[in-house]
Order: sequence, then C-alpha cells, then structure tokens
Amino acid sequence: MARIAVVGSLMMDLVVRAPRPAVPGESLIGRSFATFVGGKGGNQAAAAARLGARVAMVGAVGADAFGEAILASLAADGIETGFVRRLGGEGTGVAVPVVFDDGSNLIYALPRANLALAPADIEAARAVIEAADVLLVQFEVATEATLAALRIARAAGVRTILNPAPVAPHPGEVFALADVLVPNEVEAAALSGAAGAPPETQAAALRALGPSAVVITLGERGALIESDSGVRRVPAPRVEAVDTVGAGDAFCGALAVRLAAGGPLEAAAAYACRAAALACTRPGAAASLPSFDEVEEFTR
Ligand code: ADP
Repeated sequence: MARIAVVGSLMMDLVVRAPRPAVPGESLIGRSFATFVGGKGGNQAAAAARLGARVAMVGAVGADAFGEAILASLAADGIETGFVRRLGGEGTGVAVPVVFDDGSNLIYALPRANLALAPADIEAARAVIEAADVLLVQFEVATEATLAALRIARAAGVRTILNPAPVAPHPGEVFALADVLVPNEVEAAALSGAAGAPPETQAAALRALGPSAVVITLGERGALIESDSGVRRVPAPRVEAVDTVGAGDAFCGALAVRLAAGGPLEAAAAYACRAAALACTRPGAAASLPSFDEVEEFTR
C-alpha cells in the first residue's frame, strides 16, 4: 500500500450564506450556516486516503471542539493522526467564507494553530516522513515547518510534492527541495513572474526554481506537465461541474497516491484529472472527494 505523509493545515470552515455583503455598521440576517472540516493539508490527506493510500497527517489544532471534530473526521477517513499536535495556547484554524446570492464570496481566514506548527513537531514525526513513499506539503502552515519536512524527506530519498497554495513569499530552498511542484494557474502566474505568458513558459520558469517537474493545473483544461521528458498536456474529462472548490486538493491527493505507488508522472496526472473532475461533479470540498472505486467506475 502506498504510504503518504502530509504536512499541512487543518482548518474548520464556518460557511455563512447571506443575500449580499453587509455594509460597515450593518447587522444583516444571513440565510444559512454550516461547518466543514477543511484546510488544504487535511483535504489533500483525505483525498489520498479515500483513494486507498496509507496516510499520516502532521499538523496542529487547538485544544478545542473544532480540533476534536477535525481529528475525528481524519480518523473516520482512516488517516493516522498521532502526529497532529493539540496546542493548549492556540485555537484551531478557522476560515469564514461568506457566500452571497449572486455567487460571489469573501473569506476571512485565521490559521491560528497552523502557524504554530514548529520544526520540533516535524522532528517528532521524522520516522513517519522517512517511511513515506511521498511527502505532500502546501503553504498553509509555518514556513519553517514545511522546510523542516522537506529537508527530512530529501535526506531520506522520499519524493516530495509541493502545492504552493496560497501564494506567499517563501525562501528559494522550499522550491529546490520539491520534486514535483503543483501550482494552479493563479499560483503559476505569481510564482513564475510571467503572468499573461502561456503556461508552457510559466512552467519552464518555475522549473528553474529547482523542482525536477512542474504540473500546472488548468481547471477544465486539465494539466500541463514540464519535466526532463518535455512538455505534455493532460486533458480533463468533460463533466457537469457543480462545485469546483477543492478540485486542486483532489488533484494533489490523487497525484500523490499514484506517484507513491511508483507510477510515471504523466499517468499520475491523468489519474489526478479523473479524480478532480469527479470531485467537481459534487458539492463541497472534502465531502466531494471520490473513493478509489468511484474513480475506477468513472474511468470505465
Ligand atoms: P484549484 O482548485 O486549485 O483552483 P484548478 O481549478 O486548476 O485548481 O483545478 C484542479 C484540477 O481539477 C484541474 O487540473 C482539473 O483536473 C480539475 N478540474 C477543475 N475544474 C474542472 C472542470 N470544470 N471540469 C473538469 N475538471 C476540472
């Protein structure tokens, strides 16, 4: 069974629906409220676990009810949670997306415990990172923690996947320690410094940062791969997309599963496109992540 270590964020999404944005000083009655377990790290861990991988999560939550709910949700997906720290002095990360009637939204995100994840926490998880086939990281936890994990993986010969989301300044070493860099179009434009250029140009610029391969996700146009084998496009299956939130997380989790199993990058990206397309056909982020059997069924 492919083994994946995810070092990343765990958040509780508190989703408010409202007719329109309130103006300063106004108290506007909303339409609905719901909570969802989220965070890019947790979502990608769940994506990989549902596709059959053995997944260990390394992260941090607060010693509060949201933290408990997140741990329970990870465990329900069969994810190992022994390396998720429960911090006494910090609250669990929360995001408050407010979705309006016209479909637009705004999000307030408070990473809280995610930013307290320290190199010492990563050191405590050294064995699980070294034993993994793939280490999967994003940009939603403290940079020093991400770096510590990437260094351990590189020294142990563990393949690394970096999803540089959300875009923020990071030391060059982070990119140099990534084997496969997986940005979406917005992230590729920002990180390559070549906004407006074709994705092929951006991918070449991103590879110069150090990763041995770059996979840019292109929404309904699939993905573009740039590696020693050249540039290749992987089409996305045509689907009736109802909710593309979390598509990137489904993609990264699925890519990790296939790379961890030893598959070639192009085949792994094609599999990731199928899993992500399927996730787009259903509402929700974590809730829309498909199982191994569902992707097999979808492929036939
Ligand atoms: P993000 O979710 O990070 O913004 P993308 O929008 O690029 O990233 O989506 C990630 C992947 O999800 C794409 O590479 C593609 O495989 C799949 N995907 C996204 N939107 C669609 C869609 N409308 N139809 C089919 N697949 C999609």
